[in-house]
Amino acid sequence: MSIVVVGTIAYDSIYTPNAYAEDVLGGSATYFSFASSIYSKTKVIATVGEDFSDEHLNLFKKNNIDTEGINILQGKTFRWKGKYSKDLNDRTTIETQLNVLKNNKISIPESYKKCNILFLANIDTEIQIEVFSQMKKTNLNAMDTMNFWITSKLELLKKLFSIVNLLFINEDEAELLTGENNIMKCAKAISLMGPQIIVIKRGSYGALLFSKEEICSIPAYPLENVIDPTGAGDSFAGAFLGYLSKAKRININALRKALIYGNIIASFTVEDFSINKLASINKKDIQNRYLSFKKICSF
Ligand code: AMP
Repeated sequence: MSIVVVGTIAYDSIYTPNAYAEDVLGGSATYFSFASSIYSKTKVIATVGEDFSDEHLNLFKKNNIDTEGINILQGKTFRWKGKYSKDLNDRTTIETQLNVLKNNKISIPESYKKCNILFLANIDTEIQIEVFSQMKKTNLNAMDTMNFWITSKLELLKKLFSIVNLLFINEDEAELLTGENNIMKCAKAISLMGPQIIVIKRGSYGALLFSKEEICSIPAYPLENVIDPTGAGDSFAGAFLGYLSKAKRININALRKALIYGNIIASFTVEDFSINKLASINKKDIQNRYLSFKKICSF
């Protein structure tokens, strides 16, 4: 059973304290699918413009990602420009060009409509709702969002929160959403909105998972050279759900392991711009980092 993701495929321009990358392949669905496809067949729903290169489309196919749901429309691909703070923990959006996403008509291939896990990656909340309503059968529904949509589509977002099982959210977005400034209070307030499982990401400080049974907290993998944090959250979610899709049962042990693998894969993403590092790792690289993380965290 596959994973279906709807999200953005983008051309990103990114300022980090040491470098600038222009029009590199990015987007929430991109990072998610390159990470989740390490574990499970992944099908992408996204819209790109005529300027989207064949080379990039072929990269998805080469990574065994189903691209039937990628629609090419007249116009330009979604573009995002951002700038990171000196310690890379904060970022400012300089520009968001919706381009072809302004036409938010979504067509989903029939073969996508039954899946194991549906992930509504960061994209216009209206598109997330549209995709959710067109699906025929899913076992687990998960989602992400960001401040851009929390400030502009809050009522629609609340509707979604009441129907999804799992929410991934950054700490500052959780604070914006709930009006709280304590992570425990944020999680409590979000759980009242609907999701049974909440993962709050804290950048280089790690992540926390809240379920009905337990709370689980992990640090980020310590790295000496972080090049670009873009996509860390999406690849975290991709590896988390990819790993979970292989679990026999979704219990706290499976969720804990998924959290670890999400964390490990995200640590590779940030070691280069775009999906350069993420698309080049193999199972052995992942296992080595997993073992090293296990050693670092044992007490
Ligand atoms: P992350 O660093 O995991 O939060 O995700 C970064 C990706 O989100 C970038 O590659 C951007 O193209 C994409 N992105 C930025 N702004 C938006 C937005 N408003 N909606 C959807 N995706 C976005």
